[in-house]
This record gives sequence, C-alpha cells and structure tokens, in this order.
Amino acid sequence: MIPPGETIGILGGGQLGRMLAMAAAQLGYRCHIFAPEPDSIAAEVCAAFTCAAWEDTDALARFASDCAVITYEFENVPVAPLAALGATPILPHPRALETGQDRLTEKTFVTTLGGRTAPFAPVDLSNPESPEDLAAAIARVGAPGILKTRRDGYDGKGQWRLGASGDTSPVDLAGLDLPAKPLIYEGLVRFSAEFSVILARGAAKNGANGDIRFWDSPLNEHEGGILARSSLPAPPEVLAQVAEARTLAQKVAEALDYVGVLTCEFFATKDGPVFNEIAPRVHNSGHWTIEGAITSQFENHIRAICGLPLGDTALIVKGVEMRNIIGADQTGPKTGKWAAEDWDKILSDPANHLHLYGKAASRPGRKMGHVTRLTLG
Ligand code: AMP
Repeated sequence: MIPPGETIGILGGGQLGRMLAMAAAQLGYRCHIFAPEPDSIAAEVCAAFTCAAWEDTDALARFASDCAVITYEFENVPVAPLAALGATPILPHPRALETGQDRLTEKTFVTTLGGRTAPFAPVDLSNPESPEDLAAAIARVGAPGILKTRRDGYDGKGQWRLGASGDTSPVDLAGLDLPAKPLIYEGLVRFSAEFSVILARGAAKNGANGDIRFWDSPLNEHEGGILARSSLPAPPEVLAQVAEARTLAQKVAEALDYVGVLTCEFFATKDGPVFNEIAPRVHNSGHWTIEGAITSQFENHIRAICGLPLGDTALIVKGVEMRNIIGADQTGPKTGKWAAEDWDKILSDPANHLHLYGKAASRPGRKMGHVTRLTLG
C-alpha cells in the first residue's frame, strides 16, 4: 500500500489528469504531472510538473525518482521510453497502453477472448505491393465501412466512412487524401445505442484475484464523433446487454492483469454487444460518477493504484445526465452552443454541477468542461 502523503506521478496533463489529481488530493496524496505541453491544466492543481518530451528519458528518470507509483491519463503515451522510469511501478501495466494504442492489436486481442467486434481487416497504403490493400479489405469485410488509422485516432479523428448503405458500386477513393500509414478497415455496425462498461480493479493480493467493481453503464451519445452526452439509467436495450459486455470487460482486465479503472466501449446491436474500443484509463463517459456514484472513477483509480480498498460504485440517484461542453466555431458540433454567458444559466438550475477544465483557448471539438445533472429519486 502506498501511504497518503506520497507522490503519484501522472503521465499526461489534460482534464483527466486534473480530475485524478483532485481525487488524489482528497486522499492526501501529492501529484506530479509529466507532459510535453507547457500549458497543462492538470499541473495547475498538482504539486509538481515536469514539462518534457515523451522521449526525454533523463527527464522521465528524474520524474520517476519523485514518485511512489506512476499512472497515465493519456492513452497515446509512447511505451518504449517508459523503460526509463526504472523500478517505480507503472499502473495499469504499460501492456494495457500497448494493447489499446493500436486498433488492430486491440480488436484481435478482444476476438481471442471471445468478444464480438465489427468485421475488420488491416490496410497498409504505404506498401503498394501489400496484399492487405484496401480493395481486398473491402472485399473481405464489405461496404459500407469505416477506415481508421490504427494509431493516434481519437474523438472521431483519423476516420473515413466509405460506401453508402445499400450502395454496391465500387468504393470511390479519389479525393479522400488517405494517409500512408497503417490503417484498419471496419464494417459499419448497425447499432441501436452506444454504451460503456467502466470497471475498477484492485491489485491481486495474497494470490487472490484483484477485486473488480463495475459502475452502472451509461448510454453514450456522440455528435461529430465526439461524446456529447452520457446518461443513466440506460434504456432497456442497453441494460439487456450489460451483463455480457461486463463479462468481456472483466476478461480483458484479467488478461492484462489490470490495476486501475478500465473502460470498454460497446455498440448495442440485435446480435448482442459489439466491442468497439478499450480506454486503459478513466473515461469521459464516467464523469457522472463524481456526483452520481458512491465512489467516483477518479477516486477508485487512485485507490486501486495505491493498493487501498476500492469504494462502492453504486449509483446514488435516480438518474444522471452528463453533457460535455465542447468548444466550437461555425464548423463545430451542435453542442458548441455553450458560451461564457451560459455559466450563470447552467448554475441557476440547482441540480446542475459545472466542471470547467480551465483551458485558455476554445477550439472546435475541444472538450472545455462538462455539466452533470442529477435527478433525485
Ligand atoms: P472510435 O474512435 O472508434 O470510438 O469511433 C468514434 C465513433 O464513430 C463511435 O463512437 C461510433 O459512433 C462511430 N463508429 C466507430 N466505429 C464504428 C463502426 N465500425 N460502425 C459504426 N459506427 C462506428
């Protein structure tokens, strides 16, 4: 057990790190942020900040010497330089990062655990001789589909929809400006809803498996590829699929010997839950747990990585709705209606909790904060 008073290192300096640090502070821990951007909104609420490149192994080693345990809030942290962190434990284990960073590895891994995914095939346009070219992938998987970069995609970035529904003519790739890097082509899943399974897993103790707790699964609604809203209770078509999705998420956690909060995103389909992706970290669709559950995802992540007992994850209200505040201009998603003068209006509803992340510049699609609205039973 890492006693309160010690320092927790967090790789990544965004809003998830900020909310993790706030939960850690409540338990008496100090936090030290490592991030390459100088304007870290997590560092603003932390005891220490190392601003250095991910590849700066000297800076990583100095950072590790200040920390009792290291975690991450950003899933695209390069894994190889983490060897410079030496003997300081990294939780969850970096193998979770490696698995979640590549959509092909992730989907293949989940398939080997018996999970249902969209049909998928690798595509490498950087190799014109490659047998795994796009035409072969489309022939195998069918159209319509979505071409995605295997790495570094988030919030719907690095994705191209190919082929209209019911259109059997060859897919027209002209003008798509596809990158010459490894891609994955996925069949378009017909789903009635999207939901996430968020779990916390403690460290294995005395040969026993780590304690696992699940939060209620929210219905997740996206706009422009970005999460706009998570709400509970989820509708019956989601609730009917949660048990099967949890079984898979638990297998994922156990196979990765996972410690901390893990999120798995799913589509609810007529065939059952279809796995979409892993986030090896606290997740936007779990922000409602700050006010809506006995223990938040942030607190349980800190408890898990510090070897403390996990808190109860039960929903404590009749319903919760979490809406993201997304920065926008004319090209932004519909939720970009939020503006400074709205804060007063939001808080004039006493059931609302306003979370602003302190980001100086609002850009289209940038997550600026969220509002959680509780419905008491
Ligand atoms: P992702 O980056 O994979 O989470 O994709 C962002 C969003 O695009 C998802 O939340 C879905 O709304 C949609 N999406 C991604 N993959 C598929 C798919 N294979 N079929 C249908 N919709 C998808």
